[in-house]
Amino acid sequence: MDIVLASRNKKKIQELKMIMESSGIAAGESVNILTADSFENCGEVIEDGLTFEENAMKKALEIAACSGLTAVADDSGLEVDALDGAPGVYSARYAGEGADDDANFRKLLTAMKNTPESSRGARFVCCIAVAVKGKVMTFRGHVEGVIGNSPRGENGFGYDPIFFPEGHDRTFAEMSDMEKHAMSHRGRALEALLQAIKEGTLSLH
Ligand code: IMP
Repeated sequence: MDIVLASRNKKKIQELKMIMESSGIAAGESVNILTADSFENCGEVIEDGLTFEENAMKKALEIAACSGLTAVADDSGLEVDALDGAPGVYSARYAGEGADDDANFRKLLTAMKNTPESSRGARFVCCIAVAVKGKVMTFRGHVEGVIGNSPRGENGFGYDPIFFPEGHDRTFAEMSDMEKHAMSHRGRALEALLQAIKEGTLSLH
């Protein structure tokens, strides 16, 4: 069967695909993963929700409707305690509309330049929504950590170079893909999705 990923973020698509294929969500029963770019009549989805859940459900439902397929959407971001949860749902455009990853994490480092080590707590949150035949289900995952003082590492994307997951002295950008996915917000949200398939509360068909 074909399913479509409701995202245009190449790095995010790469991670979703990798986790879905290795976890068994898209293995075994020959699930073919497509992206929204393959459908000419699927336009840009406006992410105007106030929560990760709202945005993920909107993306999944709109892309399922225009593609006619089961759609999987990911809305995610970084919540920083010292900034009252910012950038949160605005993580992709923290430094302005169209800002790149570098501009976003540099703005965050500047906003936190006077924040002491003891108050640099943060978490990545991911909400995965699955839309099948007009119905939608959501799955949430998160990972606690701290924000570093300067970027480290080349892997991953977004805020990975400044995020140290709890109990680790390397940032997500210093870890291998598999190491990150084993503990990441996205890995955990997809784990919950896989569990729902196993328990029979979700079917991708
Ligand atoms: P959106 O879900 O498309 O609104 O964007 C999510 C944004 O959150 C990304 O553009 C990144 O800036 C950030 N983000 C989400 N997941 C990750 C991750 O795994 N690593 C680093 N940054 C992330």
